Amino acid sequence: MITVEFLRHWIAAFGTLVDSHHDQLNALDAAIGDADHGTNLRRGFTVVSATLDSAPDAPGGLLSWVGKTAVSNVGGAAGPLFGSFFLCLGDALGNHHDLDARRFALGLRAGLAGVVARGSAVAGDKTMYDTLAPGIDALDAAAAAQYDHTDIFQAGLRGAESGRDATIDLLARKGRASYLGERSVGHQDPGATSATLLFSALLE
Ligand code: ADP
Ligand code: MG
Ligand code: MG
Repeated sequence: MITVEFLRHWIAAFGTLVDSHHDQLNALDAAIGDADHGTNLRRGFTVVSATLDSAPDAPGGLLSWVGKTAVSNVGGAAGPLFGSFFLCLGDALGNHHDLDARRFALGLRAGLAGVVARGSAVAGDKTMYDTLAPGIDALDAAAAAQYDHTDIFQAGLRGAESGRDATIDLLARKGRASYLGERSVGHQDPGATSATLLFSALLE
């Protein structure tokens, strides 16, 4: 079962990974954007981590709170996008306390739908969508096959990583990188890279 304590650890682990990858995320964004993706996420998730102990103590409430805190503190394009992801994930989980991996996967899908509602990305636009969609598909398929949690989250991470790596060859069609046109090809998308850390954090 996925408990509120597990989700709190997930968010804390994501904050730690964002902090340790902040330079890499800025460097990726320097190549096809404005070099601030790591700074944006770190600013927001430093606030999230510092106040996590006072966050609501139910799965849905906790993750909606993460979303609101991200919207107010991350900034850039990533703030509203990560914010929508967590807000919609929290809404979908609601007050369920006995979450199995299937229900969690459904929640992640709702989070992805929130990202799409906010930024209208589709597959292949070279955005965080290209990590989240294959990561969630792989996690959900493993959950449906009733693997144990470690195997389920490992499957999610592998799906996310292959989606992230595939952004290198894509031409950006959304966000700041899209201004570069053909010059965006050959670079890994920063948001697809940070979104992979959401899956890494499930295994911490
Ligand atoms: P900004 O471009 O405002 O500086 P960030 O650098 O924090 O914002 O975030 C850039 C990332 O946001 C991109 O790498 C991409 O993955 C993601 N992104 C940008 N626009 C969209 C969109 N419309 N839908 C989904 N993700 C997007
Ligand atoms: Mg940027
Ligand atoms: Mg910016």
